Amino acid sequence: MSNCLFCKIIAGEIPSSKVYEDDQIFVFKDINPKAAVHLLVVPKTHIKSLDELSDEHQTLIAYMMLELADLARSQGLDDGFRTIINTGAGGGQEVAHLHIHILGGKDLPGFN
Ligand code: 5GP
Ligand code: ZN
Repeated sequence: MSNCLFCKIIAGEIPSSKVYEDDQIFVFKDINPKAAVHLLVVPKTHIKSLDELSDEHQTLIAYMMLELADLARSQGLDDGFRTIINTGAGGGQEVAHLHIHILGGKDLPGFN
């Protein structure tokens, strides 16, 4: 996806504070953090949102979920973390490349 912000970040065309990378995912700090720790976990393959998932993505999605706790712990979140996935305009999604927010630590806002 040539015009996708997160694809450009994954490709290194736009700088980011990278936390982790492997063959399937790219993880970096949110540019506008909502808590002391605020990471974005994105698949390297361009998937627009949860609304575009299909059976072929099962292994990838499971892998992303399985990595979350270790990623949170790597940032010092030893006693838990929050995950958020926004989907579509109605869900407040601003960047049309699937991403899981990991939040925690000081200044974690209330959720209600
Ligand atoms: P969404 O609202 O789509 O779930 O979340 C998009 C997130 O991407 C927002 O929290 C926003 O701060 C973050 N973001 C937008 N542009 C950039 C950028 O250029 N770099 C980084 N690191 N984060 C970004
Ligand atoms: Zn993309």
